[in-house]
Amino acid sequence: MRSRLVTRATVLRGVQVPRRGNGIPLATRVSTSRAVADFTGDTIDAHSPPAMTGPDFSDPRAGHRRQLLVQLINIPSVSHQERQLADWVEGQLRQVSRGEVLRVVDEVVFRFPALTGKPKIIFCGHLDTVPANDNLSARVEGDRVYGLGSSDLKAGLAVFLDLVATRDPAALHVDPVFLFYTCEEVAYHESGLLVIQRELPELLEDTRFAICVEPTDNAVELGCLGNLQAEVTVHGKAAHSARPWLGANAIHAAVPLIAKIAAVPERAVDFGERVRYREVVGATTIAGGRARNVIPDAVHVNVNFRFAPDRSGDDAVAWMRELVGDAGTIEVKDLSPAGRVPSENSFCRALVAAAGGTVRAKQAWTDVGRFTAWGIDAVSCGPGIPAQAHQKDEYATMTAMTESVALFERFLYDMGESK
Ligand SMILES: [Zn+2]
Repeated sequence: MRSRLVTRATVLRGVQVPRRGNGIPLATRVSTSRAVADFTGDTIDAHSPPAMTGPDFSDPRAGHRRQLLVQLINIPSVSHQERQLADWVEGQLRQVSRGEVLRVVDEVVFRFPALTGKPKIIFCGHLDTVPANDNLSARVEGDRVYGLGSSDLKAGLAVFLDLVATRDPAALHVDPVFLFYTCEEVAYHESGLLVIQRELPELLEDTRFAICVEPTDNAVELGCLGNLQAEVTVHGKAAHSARPWLGANAIHAAVPLIAKIAAVPERAVDFGERVRYREVVGATTIAGGRARNVIPDAVHVNVNFRFAPDRSGDDAVAWMRELVGDAGTIEVKDLSPAGRVPSENSFCRALVAAAGGTVRAKQAWTDVGRFTAWGIDAVSCGPGIPAQAHQKDEYATMTAMTESVALFERFLYDMGESK
């Protein structure tokens, strides 16, 4: 049972923060004043991304990030079992001077109270991972850190922990709020973001922009696909299989419907010239029949519709009803709204500029869709490698984490210069 207890604690002032003020060069700052004109089109006027170099193992800050990631991986946090990791993250955040840590059950929030009133930007990352696949402990090989959840998305959490502890927040023109939450890898309604929404609603109020640190290779992924899981039942009538004319075979009746679903063409939906969503539908599971000698009276087909951001959830359900027509009945099992493409949001533009103009579609669902449903513009942007997510040999790279920190620092610290 989740307790409803909310604990608040402002961390000790004046705690010595490691890596500060010791002459270590901070990431190169690149001005974002040449804002992009239309980052979904081809008229990009952003600076080029910084040249990617190999890992600099002499940089103590990079070494510290690697250590953070190793520790994050080595504390298992499969969905619903995140408490130990939440405790550890909370402990790390409590060492940051000038910050405030809030804890709601296993959700951890960090912010700088002195920045309250400035434009609020949410940075969020989930604590949980998918189940282990013999990959629970971290392993470092050159630039790579292997282990469960490394790319999805503990590399992003390590970046957050480094980000909040390293620079003086007094220079910020925005109010960044960091959310470390549970249960992203399971059902829509289980997410720890719902706990935060319920217990700390004021945290979400007046949020101008949100960044989910999902694995994107440091690109900015605008919006996200919606996800409708519908169980379609094709009905028949049971009878002895030797006398099928006394019944109605539901499996046979399902054939034209399945053929119709299979024939639905992919729909391409473009937002500008570089963000293309591919809207697709397909049958993903099928079950039916009672016994080998009984004419089946029902077939249940799970139909999964991954819909583009130009549709609402209601629209997606209506589309599915039209597709199925009177061939079966529909039960909506899960409906996650698509994420809006926030083309006009100035904070989104600043982030895209900080990322060197690298944008694309999110051809999957993420919590960006949840923020959209809450009326908050959001994107995905993180150092993890999308193709590594949920892999047995999942890894993240130090190089991408270094670039991620630099990207977020450009976004956070250069914001005032461009406004
Ligand atoms: Zn993830």
